[in-house]
Amino acid sequence: MKIYQRSFAVFLAVAALVSASLKPLHALAAEKKITVTTTTSMVTDLVRQIGGDRVEVQGLMGAGVDPHLYKATSSDLSKLQRGKIIFYSGLMLEGKMQDLFVKLTSAKRPVLAVTDSIPKKKLLKPAQFEGHFDPHVWFEVPLWSKCGETVLKGLAQIDPAGKEYYTARHTQFVERMKNLHAWSLKKSEELPNPKRILVTSHDAYNYFGRAYDFKVVGLQGISTVTEASLADFTGLVDFIKKNSIKAIFVESSVPHTTIERISKDAGVKVGGELFSDAMGTPGQMENGYDLGTYEGMIKHNMTTIVDSLKKR
Ligand SMILES: [Zn+2]
Repeated sequence: MKIYQRSFAVFLAVAALVSASLKPLHALAAEKKITVTTTTSMVTDLVRQIGGDRVEVQGLMGAGVDPHLYKATSSDLSKLQRGKIIFYSGLMLEGKMQDLFVKLTSAKRPVLAVTDSIPKKKLLKPAQFEGHFDPHVWFEVPLWSKCGETVLKGLAQIDPAGKEYYTARHTQFVERMKNLHAWSLKKSEELPNPKRILVTSHDAYNYFGRAYDFKVVGLQGISTVTEASLADFTGLVDFIKKNSIKAIFVESSVPHTTIERISKDAGVKVGGELFSDAMGTPGQMENGYDLGTYEGMIKHNMTTIVDSLKKR
């Protein structure tokens, strides 16, 4: 009996040691987590990927929210004030929040645009963007992967004890992005080149077009702020007919009315709803991926586009 008790005590001590060593090495208790405030759902996802258990991320914009038009609410302001560090997308995507970012920066708070780590020469500046860079970089997966560097740098600065943890998670993130890019290239190859024409309501897919070799045509231009003119409208109807395009697409964060009218006038099908400037609802599953994640958003878009345009 005594021997049994002693060996049981040894067993308990060993079990305690093992379970202690199995705990994530640098995870923090809930109350000690670093509070981070983010803007779009893509930025929220990016910070979660790299920050893991050490951060508590509060995103301001959920599914279906248009960042071009978004104005901070009073509850957002308190979230922004609570955040030890703030990450936003940048390149004027959050057009109505720029003054707020400047104010927060001058209050000595780290406010970082994740797109800052993309080399300027990799950014697109299409003529219709009137001298501005195109902000929709997340649709070229390798560029979004670069944005992780700003997050790693910012988190390590605000929480130096977690540097090793963030670095390891960043390495895993880069690897996942490589796989996602390879998956996207492979899926796009199912569609022969002449069929690779993507028509949507606003100009969010230029990087997508460059990375995966699609011609992209957006009705509304860079931002959803400007409305399409009648000339744009009839021009697009003619373009669709002339190129015998099989499907055009609506976006989750832009009203569907204009694309639906074009669909009727040009006699073309609406191929589905794409995510442009916001991801889907977390937990909404499709073909085994979560539409509320960046990976799910990318896979949903590519699958919807390729499968709709492939049809005869
Ligand atoms: Zn946009």
